[in-house]
Amino acid sequence: MKKILLATKNEGKAKEFKEIFGSIGYQVITLLDLEGDVPDVEETGETFEANAALKAETFANRLQMPVMADDSGLEVDALQKRPGVYSARYAGLEKNDQKNLEKVLQELEGVEHKNRTARFVCVLAFARPEEETIFARGTCEGYIASYPQGTGGFGYDPIFIPNGYNRTLAQFAPSEKHSISHRGDAIEKMLTKLKTELE
Ligand code: IMP
Repeated sequence: MKKILLATKNEGKAKEFKEIFGSIGYQVITLLDLEGDVPDVEETGETFEANAALKAETFANRLQMPVMADDSGLEVDALQKRPGVYSARYAGLEKNDQKNLEKVLQELEGVEHKNRTARFVCVLAFARPEEETIFARGTCEGYIASYPQGTGGFGYDPIFIPNGYNRTLAQFAPSEKHSISHRGDAIEKMLTKLKTELE
């Protein structure tokens, strides 16, 4: 089986990548599968692209192998695209999903439905030692619900309703979420770009 190292320690993300790549015959290993303590790369970039490249290139150089990294988050139009690259730590450095989504709901209090538009963004960076990094950007458009619903997924899923549906992403089955998600979209675009390289 072909292997990809995914530069993440996020279990929720790792699970989704493993499901998507597994279904097309790739084995995804993550930083959690590597032996020893792997130090984190600080996400100091101001764009999803900058953060994804930072992670992928740091690990590709350190481990001397091809590495895929992603950076993702939620952009809310009424909040000038916040939380954006700060999605994971929006309500504080403890990275608490529940507190993060409550903060978004609070900031949107009184904002009517038509102005609650938002999107999930996922940028993938594929880095190899001494070669140009390849990028792919995926999105999932929708709007922010008035209260959380559902127990699936992670992060902001309980308050995000994708366009064309009347339930939150946390009420989707995993495979159903992948078929419309920003991550699924980015992976599909990346795979098209990498067809020759990964064969
Ligand atoms: P990252 O680890 O810096 O990419 O931060 C991603 C953060 O964005 C997560 O911790 C979530 O808060 C949010 N996020 C990204 N993708 C999703 C998703 O598919 N559902 C819900 N929240 C997401």
